Amino acid sequence: MFNQLDTLAADPILGLMAAYQQDTHPQKLDLGIGVYKNEEGLTPVLESVSEGQNRHIALENTKSYLNPAGYPGFNEAMQTLIFGEAHPALMSHRVATVQTPGGCGALRVAAELIKRAMADVTIWVSDPTWANHIPLLGDAGLSIKTYPYYDPKNKGVRFEDMLEVLAQLGTDDIVLLHGCCHNPCGADLSKEQWQTLAGLALERGFVPFIDMAYQGFGDGLEDDAYGLRLLSEQLPEVIVATSCSKNFGLYRERTGCISFVCESEKAMKATKSQLLSVARGIYSMPPAHGAAIVEAILNHSTLREQWIQEVDGMRKRMQGLRSAFSKGMAIRGHDNFSFIENEKGMFSFLGLTPQQVEALRVRYSIYMINSSRVNIAGISSVNIDYLCDSVSEVLE
Ligand code: PMP
Repeated sequence: MFNQLDTLAADPILGLMAAYQQDTHPQKLDLGIGVYKNEEGLTPVLESVSEGQNRHIALENTKSYLNPAGYPGFNEAMQTLIFGEAHPALMSHRVATVQTPGGCGALRVAAELIKRAMADVTIWVSDPTWANHIPLLGDAGLSIKTYPYYDPKNKGVRFEDMLEVLAQLGTDDIVLLHGCCHNPCGADLSKEQWQTLAGLALERGFVPFIDMAYQGFGDGLEDDAYGLRLLSEQLPEVIVATSCSKNFGLYRERTGCISFVCESEKAMKATKSQLLSVARGIYSMPPAHGAAIVEAILNHSTLREQWIQEVDGMRKRMQGLRSAFSKGMAIRGHDNFSFIENEKGMFSFLGLTPQQVEALRVRYSIYMINSSRVNIAGISSVNIDYLCDSVSEVLE
């Protein structure tokens, strides 16, 4: 039976990682893999997470099964983090939230539920989008199309082009949006653009599906949720996938949740029962540990405050690196990198050709994926001059 299977090509990011690990260059630099790193190039456990974990372990008295909805208290605490205190959709009991194995699990559970609700729906994703959106949603059997988003020439959102395509959509369409810190391009919608989008979704009847993987990494925990909170206030139906991988640094604990904002409490209850059944059919129930830590943090005022400060610290470090890189390039005669300073979160395209990306890797041991998407958090005060010098050299 298995003799018939073809061997698939290895994931290019994994290949890049393997090459980086074997590289012996003393100044080698990894800007490829998408995890937050500190000044020392490490991804340590957050202090609030260590403390939350200690508290959880001290109280944990069983490893018995959880349930398909996840860790008690986590979903409620996450709803407040995502939608904000006293959001009208929460107040009217219209939001079904279920814990999932990370943001990937949230996206997949949503795709399965969408298929149950309407089999011939089309999901519209931004061009470009995070590469894994395609298998996570497409493997569930949904049809995927793209809408224009990033303009590599002008380094910004092609908002008029995006609206033109979305204006053709209707009630059997779902539009996947990055809540903040667009991966891969870092170009986000402005508040005014979110408002325009809300009006268009209301008029056309398509359902926005917001992927929120970096809350707190753009402008702050509250500001980053502006778009999704606005849409959830103005529209009858919205889907929100949330990941705790980045802002809690819980990558390997697979912690996240999926929320469906429904038209009524009755629809919410039906949707929740379907979500639980989808979860049961894929993995039965999500892992408990990460969610228990998140719950311990969010429901404890001093720990929560400490976590907020740690998220602020990560964000400010990335904002500082963005501005240092723009200035570093300007000093070297390349004043067209100011867009990096205005983009948000962990990722941006440097706007280099695949040949220039290869030259950076071969000549300077600087690793990034072919599209020239870089992980800003991979830069530090130690390597920024080397990076700016090397990028300047390959641009000559
Ligand atoms: N959405 C986006 C846009 C992402 O970048 C990621 C992580 N790279 C995820 C979702 C999923 O995150 P995870 O499954 O690790 O929580």
